[in-house]
Amino acid sequence: MAGKSKHILKTVFGYDAFRPLQAEIITNVLRKNDTLVIMPTGGGKSLCYQIPALIFSGLTIVISPLISLMKDQVEQLVQIGVPVTVLNSSLTLEQYRRNEEKVKQGVIRLLYMAPEALLRPNMLAMLSSLDVDCLTIDEAHCISEWGHDFRPEYRQLVTARDRFANAVCIALTATATPRVRQDIKTSLGFEDSDEFVASFNRKNLFIQVVSKNNPFEQTVEFIKGFPGQSGIIYCFSRRQVDDLYEALKSKGFSVRPYHAGLSKRDRTRNQDLFIKDDVQIMVATIAFGMGIDKPNVRFVVHYDLPKNIESYYQEIGRAGRDGLPAHCILLFSYGDIQKTKYFINKKEEHEQRIANIHLNALLGFIETERCRRIPLLGYFGEKYSREDCGMCDNCLTEEEDLKDITIAAQKFLSCAKRTEERFGAGHIIDVLRGSEAKKVLRFGHQHLSTYGIGRDFSKRQWFHLSRQFIRKGLLVQDMEFGSLKLTDKAWKVARGEEKVFGRMEEEGGVDRTSEKDDHKDYDRDLFEILRKERKQLADKSNVPPYVIFSDKTLIEMAIFFPQSKQSMLDIHGVGAVKHDKYGTVFLDIIQEYCKIRQIEERAKLAGGKPLGATASIGKKRHIVIGEALNSGRPVSKIMDDFSIKRDTFLNHLFRYLQEGNGLIKSDELMALSTVSSEQKDHILDKFEDLGTEFLKPVFDALGGETDYEDLKIIRLYYLGTVRK
Ligand code: ADP
Ligand code: ZN
Repeated sequence: MAGKSKHILKTVFGYDAFRPLQAEIITNVLRKNDTLVIMPTGGGKSLCYQIPALIFSGLTIVISPLISLMKDQVEQLVQIGVPVTVLNSSLTLEQYRRNEEKVKQGVIRLLYMAPEALLRPNMLAMLSSLDVDCLTIDEAHCISEWGHDFRPEYRQLVTARDRFANAVCIALTATATPRVRQDIKTSLGFEDSDEFVASFNRKNLFIQVVSKNNPFEQTVEFIKGFPGQSGIIYCFSRRQVDDLYEALKSKGFSVRPYHAGLSKRDRTRNQDLFIKDDVQIMVATIAFGMGIDKPNVRFVVHYDLPKNIESYYQEIGRAGRDGLPAHCILLFSYGDIQKTKYFINKKEEHEQRIANIHLNALLGFIETERCRRIPLLGYFGEKYSREDCGMCDNCLTEEEDLKDITIAAQKFLSCAKRTEERFGAGHIIDVLRGSEAKKVLRFGHQHLSTYGIGRDFSKRQWFHLSRQFIRKGLLVQDMEFGSLKLTDKAWKVARGEEKVFGRMEEEGGVDRTSEKDDHKDYDRDLFEILRKERKQLADKSNVPPYVIFSDKTLIEMAIFFPQSKQSMLDIHGVGAVKHDKYGTVFLDIIQEYCKIRQIEERAKLAGGKPLGATASIGKKRHIVIGEALNSGRPVSKIMDDFSIKRDTFLNHLFRYLQEGNGLIKSDELMALSTVSSEQKDHILDKFEDLGTEFLKPVFDALGGETDYEDLKIIRLYYLGTVRK
């Protein structure tokens, strides 16, 4: 059975390997065990029922609440030659009859329909007279009143289910809250053992929070980094959407607005342009995104504070569904918090409490200095235990050389103190920079000794610094008034007993810590040519470009330059039917391109590493670093090569070992450590007892005497080194 699924995966869908849990789920469904699937957006839920549908002899019914989603799925399946049809209210009577007829004749493997269509008595009667093997309930959270999208028709599916005694039921959702999950299981009478919960970690999303100083400029700078690539900018209000849309348009960006205040026609049209790659950027309220399956969204900007962690997660989740890296940036200001607080205060008391809890959770995420995935996934009850995800701003910070910002901190703190800890960052910065703003003069702050001592930095740089001071716990913000107060730690800094290290933003620059590009090595010219061809084909058949081939597929073509049918079939996303339809068109282009430039085909290893965030053509840093060490390059040189500190260097090696990339050479490494050989043995024992994943327990067990750097070195030794 497993072999059969795998075969279909490659020949029909064109994919090399299953994503996590897909294989287990498919096996479970094929065994006719009811199955609940909880997977984040982009996790690959659809294959979990589509592959069984192609193996079962009877019909698979798929219930889906949104016509746009159905349409999208059906289009994609038609492209790969799967006998599929749809019954919903968007069809003309004639189309409806025709599709219904096909179902009766038994030529259809997958039937997509809205719940109310299934529930119609004569439809139920017709379908239950057929051989139905599987009843799929997509977006299954609609069954729960606790979900964000309860639909009464979904409740009635429970009884409809009885009409299909021979059918296994698979329910799928991306909603992570335990309450909803339980509700789905109870309603459908599933056992706990039928539940498959995938990790909600979206590894390919780079997550970043920056302070919002000049949001428009920041946004423009940011999106300039994505020429021609799709992205969404979320704003809090309709008005904000309209303003930002106009401003971006006047700067020449390819952009459209989307919010509930627009006519349905405009909304549909704008959304369509976006999906078809005719427009690059959507500026939208949270009304945008439901039922959108566009896989190649490369960035999401939160221009304003999201409502809560759950909606933030949903919204960034619309990026990078194709598994390629995508960048999510949130512009954050304490002013936005005030705004949110203001709205919360207008609510009922009970609602206020819940809203405050949500807000605090969100703040926890924003303020954290640890990996952002810890609070984000923690919110969904998932423990993220890696020390370094490498895909969020906090995990990357240490890769840069942090600068000594103690003097700036002292100036800022002293100014906060002299203004009696009654003001927010904006005012303090005005004083530091010697502004003659009315507010400064009204309070007589031009007479303070700290007036004008911070002219060497711009306003923006000061804002960036002040955010870091807050994050580092030097200042706490009064949530009601926004004023900044000094902490004990601040006093140590002010007295010169402690130093502060942080980032210094270049003047004029936006805080762009990441230009993560995992697949740099593809031929961009060829990619553009292929993309144009794809767009033409798509327009001809009136489907979105990704329905023809995904970006990932085109990128692979521009890496491997396939020159034959066989190598074309090796490319990600090229199954037999798609190859027959489009293979030669693309093959011709590639051959022509390669001939002129004398480029040879590159072998894509069978079962070779697929492209993506975790495995890529361009090697990951930690691997390059491990290999450099093994090749005998001195540690100091390697640290220079990558401009990293020793600590970061050690972290990379740890990751190298953890992933099982092989052993590393240890002589020079051990020479870096200051422990005696006796101590070393002692530490090795502790690693043996306590494991190597976390250092704190080992540190504690050693009475706090050995410093972390030594521990990291010994850990590397423990995990596998070769001594030469
Ligand atoms: P979900 O419904 O969970 O949001 P989808 O089923 O739409 O996710 O899958 C997201 C994307 O990932 C789609 O483009 C799909 O074709 C692709 N995909 C799914 N499974 C695999 C796989 N095993 N290998 C490669 N791509 C996959
Ligand atoms: Zn991280």
